[in-house]
Amino acid sequence: MMKMESENLIYLKKVTQNIFSNPTFLKMYKKDAYYEEGEASAIIIPDSLDEFVNVVKVCIDKKIKFLVRGSGTNYTGGTIPQDCIVIVTTKLNKIIEINTEMEYAIVEPGVINEQLNNALSKFNYKFTPDPTSYNICTIGGNVSENAGGPNCLFYGVTHDHILGLEIMLLDGTIMKIGSLEGFLPYNNFKSLLVGSEGTLCIILKIWVKIIKKEENIINLRIECKNNTIATTLIDSLFSTGVLPNILEMIAQPAIPDKEIAKHFNSILLLRFAGNNSYVEYCKNKILPLIISRECEYEFFDEDIMYVRAKLIKERKIQLSKLTNIKPKQYLTDCVVPRSKLGDILTFISELSIKYDVVILNTFHAGDGNIHPTILYEDNEKERRILSKVKEEILEKCLALSGSISAEHGIGIEKKDYLSKMFNNHEIELMELVKSTLDPYNILNPDKIFKWGDFN
Ligand SMILES: Cc1cc2nc3c(=O)[nH]c(=O)nc-3n(C[C@H](O)[C@H](O)[C@H](O)COP(=O)(O)OP(=O)(O)OC[C@H]3O[C@@H](n4cnc5c(N)ncnc54)[C@H](O)[C@@H]3O)c2cc1C
Repeated sequence: MMKMESENLIYLKKVTQNIFSNPTFLKMYKKDAYYEEGEASAIIIPDSLDEFVNVVKVCIDKKIKFLVRGSGTNYTGGTIPQDCIVIVTTKLNKIIEINTEMEYAIVEPGVINEQLNNALSKFNYKFTPDPTSYNICTIGGNVSENAGGPNCLFYGVTHDHILGLEIMLLDGTIMKIGSLEGFLPYNNFKSLLVGSEGTLCIILKIWVKIIKKEENIINLRIECKNNTIATTLIDSLFSTGVLPNILEMIAQPAIPDKEIAKHFNSILLLRFAGNNSYVEYCKNKILPLIISRECEYEFFDEDIMYVRAKLIKERKIQLSKLTNIKPKQYLTDCVVPRSKLGDILTFISELSIKYDVVILNTFHAGDGNIHPTILYEDNEKERRILSKVKEEILEKCLALSGSISAEHGIGIEKKDYLSKMFNNHEIELMELVKSTLDPYNILNPDKIFKWGDFN
């Protein structure tokens, strides 16, 4: 186990009592939702923003490597430590202000997405970005990953809902960026920092846009015989000009045995929200499309994410009865233009036969995001197959004008694939931004760039 140098520990203990280095604590923070593990040298869980700032100042001053962690739900290893300190924000969970007149809220970075929405609900308001992990992930994590979510189809991803940030740079400067309180300089920094995966700055406070909840909502579940019918239904829906608030897909799984695959169908979950006449208009547009494809449908009142979770569970039970289901799941995320969803799903079906693997896929279809989830046994041979399947999927996404990451970022998971999407010069420019803002490479040092490995 890595031990923090005792001198650094002494400096840190001068500004925090909340520092832990016993094996149980270190174990708890050695991984996130990605499957690899790292090793932290110490864990710090500050009680207040002041304590957070003081800890970071010591790290900067003494050039101690560290990363900031919210709830650790990211899927790309963004909070896996490689012999660095992990500073956890979960106690920095104050909602500082809710201002419905000016339609914003100010939160500390450790506020849980659902916590903010529960507080806003009393005023009939909401914060729209809603990653499926909404009940555990932090707003600081949402900003750092530029998280998407089911509701982002209509309203845009996290970036579009951030009005301003208070950040700390790696020279110790604390500054506000954004345009909430009149003109503030550095406004355009927002686009650089939102989605920078905890590598460029430390987020201290967040000004988020809040919006009124819609007057009326309809939820719709559509069952199609296969993925092709489902994706052509999606295409024709968008060609009517209608934009659903939510469009999730639980695809027919890619199963090598075509006879077994026939037991599964393709499910779409949709929500339309707005005033009564708009919702009625959407309903009238979509129903003929469903009926002409002989799909089954039903309207439902339950929460759409609850229905989604229930269906996934049912499907897994059914799948386990029909196939020799593998115990491990590897979820990766990538994106294609929405009109290419049919192509990528067909390709994934072909891959499942080529490599004899089952691949599940539940995703924000409206955004063209896919989440191929490969089932595997944890052994050398299957891990090799897994990475081959993943690589072929990412390459196909690029060939279809998509991207190697939709909403989960690069972290350590996609480091090796960055050069498939960007040329050397482009990567060097990104590294230049990192080395300018973090010249000693102490903040989340080994993420995104291979460059981080050599510092
Ligand atoms: C079941 C499940 C469903 C998910 N669904 C979605 C989804 O629908 N859409 C989606 O986009 N993602 C989804 N995710 C991924 C993940 O939940 C999101 O990326 C989320 O935003 C991460 O929040 P977190 O608090 O867990 O952050 P963490 O995982 O702790 O951290 C994420 C990144 O943010 C950085 N960071 C955190 N706080 C700060 C700070 N204060 N200052 C600087 N850097 C910071 C970290 O260093 C790290 O790089 C899902 C994950 C799971 C497990």
